[in-house]
Amino acid sequence: MLDQLYRLQDRIQFVADRERERDTVPAELVEVDREFQERLEAVGRIRERLSQAEKECRQSEADLADLTEKQKKYQSQLRAVQSSREYGAVLNEIDGVEKLIRGTEDRVLSLEEEIEAARRELTERERSLPAETEEHEIRLKDWRAAQRAINEELEAARQEIQRLESEMTPRDRAEFHRLLDKKRGLAVSRVVQSSCSACHVKIRPAAMQILKAGREIVYCDSCKRILYYDPQSS
Ligand SMILES: [Zn+2]
Repeated sequence: MLDQLYRLQDRIQFVADRERERDTVPAELVEVDREFQERLEAVGRIRERLSQAEKECRQSEADLADLTEKQKKYQSQLRAVQSSREYGAVLNEIDGVEKLIRGTEDRVLSLEEEIEAARRELTERERSLPAETEEHEIRLKDWRAAQRAINEELEAARQEIQRLESEMTPRDRAEFHRLLDKKRGLAVSRVVQSSCSACHVKIRPAAMQILKAGREIVYCDSCKRILYYDPQSS
């Protein structure tokens, strides 16, 4: 009877502890997950910027080709002009187009540098990404496997609790749970060296006699817990 009560208390405590453990995400895993998501996002951002820069670069090169075409046209016009007024006007056009060409050339150059840097960074990040992804998956998998294992333990413990409680009268069961609540999970206290192990108060010799006979429930005089006397370990 007391063995069962003691075991029941133990299993109830076990369930509470393991549930807490199962529902607490390890701090290092929260951090690992955040870091991994950041690395993924960084790769996405670089890729996006790279394709944007490539597009801008192609556009600038097309502009440059148009401008060079214009420059050639003005240069041939220059050779055919008749008046000095017309000559000055064409020279002006050439001046303007050359300024645009220089600006566009600078733009192409800086875009090419940007593209090259982005490609380098992307290659580097993409090289380490598969290993990082795998490592991340393994860590998550370990966590999920640990949770599954805990759930299995919980299932077994809950079945045992149910079985132990079904062997008690409803009144005893209610009484026991009331005591458990009142004593914060420790309703049954082991007797160690003739003392209550919860409050360390010595047990009267007469009460020890009753405990040793093992036929009645004895409460600790001091803390009012149910005393559990186990001849093997007392
Ligand atoms: Zn006590």
